[in-house]
Amino acid sequence: MTTTTPVAKSALRKLELKFGEYEVCAIPTGLFALDGGAMFGTVPKALWQKTNPADDQNRISMEARALLLKSKDRNILIDTGNGSDFVAKHGDKIGGKFEEIYGVDASGTTLESSLKKHGLTTDDITDVILTHLHFDHAGGATKADQSGRIVPTFAKATYHLQRANYENARNPNVREKASYLLQNFKPLIESGVLKLIDGPQKDYLPNVSLFVSNGHTVGHQVVIIEDANKQLIYCGDVVPTSSHVRSAWIMGYDINPLMLIQEKSVLMSLTEAKNTYLYFEHDPYCDLATVEKNNNDYQVKERFIL
Ligand SMILES: [Zn+2]
Repeated sequence: MTTTTPVAKSALRKLELKFGEYEVCAIPTGLFALDGGAMFGTVPKALWQKTNPADDQNRISMEARALLLKSKDRNILIDTGNGSDFVAKHGDKIGGKFEEIYGVDASGTTLESSLKKHGLTTDDITDVILTHLHFDHAGGATKADQSGRIVPTFAKATYHLQRANYENARNPNVREKASYLLQNFKPLIESGVLKLIDGPQKDYLPNVSLFVSNGHTVGHQVVIIEDANKQLIYCGDVVPTSSHVRSAWIMGYDINPLMLIQEKSVLMSLTEAKNTYLYFEHDPYCDLATVEKNNNDYQVKERFIL
């Protein structure tokens, strides 16, 4: 079997993107690892390992990459990664086991260090849009304070989430139970900072629209940042890496695979309307990519970093 080492990030073209008032900044929050088989569902390992080589435990490398929309009046963060104080929040037992199973690497980049690179602290964030409450997206939404109490990480922010996802997280099914951890969202509702949204929204915030998908989990929102000529789609878990652009390449984690494929095809068809960049939350090798149509499906045209 052959393995192709993915192209080094330094070899990718760097983009500078602005939408309206916003400067767009990648906010990597740290690497982790998940089982390659689970990440690619029914796709054979002989295919996926060419782009996503597995370690000795069959895990592939994953990023938890948030996105910052930075402007004079507003700093919007989309998703928050696993959180850098998992043990403090969840206790040694869950925390230690979690870090071992998921290979969480908190030694390098964190949410806080990535914000600092752009001159911001967690107190500067005005809005947090959560695609959904799975721990690798909402883990950084709360933190343990000095007394050990779990509080919102972004003290001055309003958090935005689909109501359907919140309800789902409160009463998770057996398959998702381990992904919806109360500590990541209960403190948000208790402190009154969580705004629940009903369904898709056009221009929810200036230049920001929300597309709702239910195939990965119920009430997952994809965030579309756009102006007259171009758009950036923050795909979340609908297209987690650039290897998942093709329609049948979906995750074993998805609760409704056929629904996800259908929703993904609607989402991908939006790329034909204007100049589009797909932003990948979990791709360790690139931040975003353009796509093109090929044989009634889509494929990556060019990968970029921000
Ligand atoms: Zn998820």
